[in-house]
Amino acid sequence: MNPNPTAAGTGGSVRVNRCQLCGSPRLKSILFLGYLPPVNTMEPIGTRPKVELFYPAELLHCGECELVQLGLIVDPAILFPPHYAYTSGTTRILRDNFAELHAESSSLFPFPKEGLIVDIGSNDGTLLANWKGSGHRVCGIEPTNAHKLALEKGIPTINAFFGPESAAEAIRWHGRASRVTATNVFAHIEDVDSVVGSILDLLDEGGIFISESHYLLSLVQTLQYDTIYHEHLRYYSVTSLRHLLERRGLQIIHVKRIPTHGGSIRVYAARKAERQAEPSVEAALAQEKRLLTPPAFAEFRQRISRSKLSLAALLSTIRAGNERVYGIGAPSRASTLVNHVALDETAVECVLEIKGSYKIGKYMPGTRIPVVDEEKLFSDPPEYALLFSWHIAEELIPKFREKGYRGKFIVPLPQPRVVE
Ligand SMILES: [Zn+2]
Repeated sequence: MNPNPTAAGTGGSVRVNRCQLCGSPRLKSILFLGYLPPVNTMEPIGTRPKVELFYPAELLHCGECELVQLGLIVDPAILFPPHYAYTSGTTRILRDNFAELHAESSSLFPFPKEGLIVDIGSNDGTLLANWKGSGHRVCGIEPTNAHKLALEKGIPTINAFFGPESAAEAIRWHGRASRVTATNVFAHIEDVDSVVGSILDLLDEGGIFISESHYLLSLVQTLQYDTIYHEHLRYYSVTSLRHLLERRGLQIIHVKRIPTHGGSIRVYAARKAERQAEPSVEAALAQEKRLLTPPAFAEFRQRISRSKLSLAALLSTIRAGNERVYGIGAPSRASTLVNHVALDETAVECVLEIKGSYKIGKYMPGTRIPVVDEEKLFSDPPEYALLFSWHIAEELIPKFREKGYRGKFIVPLPQPRVVE
């Protein structure tokens, strides 16, 4: 039940006037980042600027269920244009996380090998490969072409969006599931409540649903405002996830903070009264009550402002000394940072992407900053490399050192710092 008009198919956007989760009109604005362009709208280098739509990026907090959500829903057809090629970016940190999810859940909540696990938004099957390896029956549901990669790995995958039809198809082929997983699904889907309904259809009696979502508390604590863009409709806490799941009769039985995407929360849920909740659930709820308060949101807003101004000041000093800055990587979050801090090609000369990236040869959204082959970092090195994937800076810096970059790094968030 999304109480707002649907944005999909409008070719435009709709404002959120009622909470997307509980329908309450008690929504309070906690942050306004300004206007941002769609992150996948990248014009080819050399084309002259044309009219581009920017959308307001405002965060609203629901006084009823604590959900933090974007104040505007943009038609997915605008956010995901036809040429947009989604690649999972199965980085080491993601692969490690999936292996750890398999290990943790197998030790906490084991299930027999004849049992089935279904992964929603299964991408190239990286997560399910772990259970296939332990001899379980697996099934993926994946709308994009990534499903072909999963099939090549021998992972049965239904090529569809997740909903009542694909859930029924999974049951027809494989029966009901002992485990259902959904990593990074709940933030994007417009009607998340009906998705939970389909998950319940699919889940066998005694089954467990495991979700992973980017965690609001990490967003606030480590100032990851750059993860705010229009694809991410919602920013969950355990408190708001509990509301979402309880509406359909699911109870959270265990939670764990994990490092993916700069800080996520893994949540295990079962049908009410089927299992005992671990102490981790109460602990997380109590911590959120303490740390996700109106004063904390006000301070969050102030910290973002200070961080933005000091990044601008740092770049200004560097450029005044005629030293050069390249950006490293053009993930979606780079678009928010670049546009919020109002960086242009005179501040950041170019942004580098790894060979083969479809972003090479385009401009960063909303700017004239060209995206070029990473090779330029070594053939024509700048004094500074600005890490847009700053949340994995510890992983990236040694890699670039190994490849031969000798300049300095700028880690832009939470507070800008230079790494020599
Ligand atoms: Zn609400």
